[in-house]
Amino acid sequence: MSKCKKCGVEVSFEDLYVDHGLQVCEDCKMKSAVSPPESCANRPNMIK
Ligand SMILES: [Zn+2]
Repeated sequence: MSKCKKCGVEVSFEDLYVDHGLQVCEDCKMKSAVSPPESCANRPNMIK
């Protein structure tokens, strides 16, 4: 067993996903896919 790094739920290794280097459960992986983290907004926009 391992733990989701986002919500802390215990998940088996076969239900564990890696999202941005973190081990997360399926629910958190799905949520992350729907709404990406805000870190994208912090990237400088080099396209001009
Ligand atoms: Zn989770």
